[in-house]
Amino acid sequence: MNVSDTEVVWSILKSAGFENTNSISEADIVLIVTCAIRENAENKIWERLTYLKGRKRARTKRPLKIGILGCMAERLKHSLIEKEKAVDLVAGPDSYRDLPRLLALTENNQTAVNVLLSLDETYADVVPVRLNEDSVSAFVSIMRGCDNMCTYCIVPFTRGRERSRPIDSIVKEIQKLSDEGVKEITLLGQNVNSYRDTSQESFSLGNETKMAKGFKTVYKTKKGGLRFADLLDKVSLIDPDMRIRFTSPHPKDFPDEMLQLISERSNICSHLHLPAQSGNSKVLERMRRGYTRESYLELVNHVYDIIPDVALSSDFICGFCGETEEEFQDTLTLIREVKYSSTFLFAYSMREKTTAHRRYKDDVPSEIKLRRLSEMNQAFREVVAEKNETFHGKVQLVLVEGRSKRSDKFLAGRNDGNVKVIFPSIDIPVEFQSKTTSVIKPGDYVSVKITGSSSQVLKGEPLYHSSIPDFNKNLCEQMGLNHCKLSL
Ligand code: SAH
Ligand code: SF4
Repeated sequence: MNVSDTEVVWSILKSAGFENTNSISEADIVLIVTCAIRENAENKIWERLTYLKGRKRARTKRPLKIGILGCMAERLKHSLIEKEKAVDLVAGPDSYRDLPRLLALTENNQTAVNVLLSLDETYADVVPVRLNEDSVSAFVSIMRGCDNMCTYCIVPFTRGRERSRPIDSIVKEIQKLSDEGVKEITLLGQNVNSYRDTSQESFSLGNETKMAKGFKTVYKTKKGGLRFADLLDKVSLIDPDMRIRFTSPHPKDFPDEMLQLISERSNICSHLHLPAQSGNSKVLERMRRGYTRESYLELVNHVYDIIPDVALSSDFICGFCGETEEEFQDTLTLIREVKYSSTFLFAYSMREKTTAHRRYKDDVPSEIKLRRLSEMNQAFREVVAEKNETFHGKVQLVLVEGRSKRSDKFLAGRNDGNVKVIFPSIDIPVEFQSKTTSVIKPGDYVSVKITGSSSQVLKGEPLYHSSIPDFNKNLCEQMGLNHCKLSL
């Protein structure tokens, strides 16, 4: 999210004539794009600020200005400037268009603050400036804000109400990325699958949202508009050789037509993030997630029925207010039962303004939170190591990202399920050479035979260059037509 926000900010500043530098000594102003979701994230910003204050004091000629952007700016507002005299500019996530004006104020030695939240800002017309132009993948923001009000979460307060970017502007941006050679896009939002484009009247005829069995929302059911399945449909037709991923969804918004579409389209990755947060129904109720352990598991089974080869991932929080040892055990059993391919595990940190802050006590001691965090990690590691072994001997389509971080002699990429795959950096073996070049480079799709694994990666040998449609066609021929995804 921060990368995507930074790319929007850059685009706005570039259009206003500002230039980017990677060196603090050359900079007139440093803007920090921040996150406030957990205390840890904020602590990192405070450390960065201490460092920047030192640089600011040490400057003798040109002054150095400091700006705080994003969620932490929204959370702390004017108090950031009152508390931190070194801060010159504070801009919330909906005020980026106002940055040129705010920066002009700081030039006159005034402090500048804009933390107004908007009901409709989506930066739809801002074409983000990609931070890493060499990357084979890109993020595309499709919606902002969240209406869910989980009791532990500060997002609805820092990023405001849910609003979606019009479908046409998303399609245009992805077409441009495809023309530039990008091979994978991730549709981004706090709640991507509650996407709803109501920008045109003709879109408002749809029925109300169908939710998975046993799921409910805290807000009144919304009606009409083009939904996430409509967006996925359009986006996946842009380029059959471009992978489509999305994050972060909420488990409540997975209607069958969407699951069906994912199972049918070969370029929509069979990877679903289903953030569970806890495996205990009472904790889920305190968190106000709108489902029970049983309904979550029912959804998981339903997903496996429709997309048998799906890779699932999840977020979990341990040590939420009042979480007993018994309740926590249910989280461990859920992690073991679902067999996720990846997880994001967090120790709960109390955030001001949230319902939990008003209503509950942060009563799980931090050493217990940390112990539970490591137990979650261990449970996940065990199941994922076993799961990764099931890939041995199978051929996976890998989008090559670049050299492996650990060794130049290896290349790294990801399979359809977003699992990292490492293989030796060698040419395509002679018997498989069909392209004019046998060299493997970032952005190539290569079929890789998996020969080993750990809890973190799959290891293999490269076989041949491929494409999403070709790889899928081969797979269908080998397997019969049962699990065949449509090649467009
Ligand atoms: N909208 C997504 C999550 C976005 S926030 C969803 O509902 O799943 C990313 C993750 O941060 C959350 O899934 C949650 O696991 C974690 N998180 C949010 N607030 C937190 C808090 N106060 N303490 C610890 N983890 C938190
Ligand atoms: Fe936070 Fe819940 Fe919204 Fe996710 S769905 S951003 S956890 S309030």
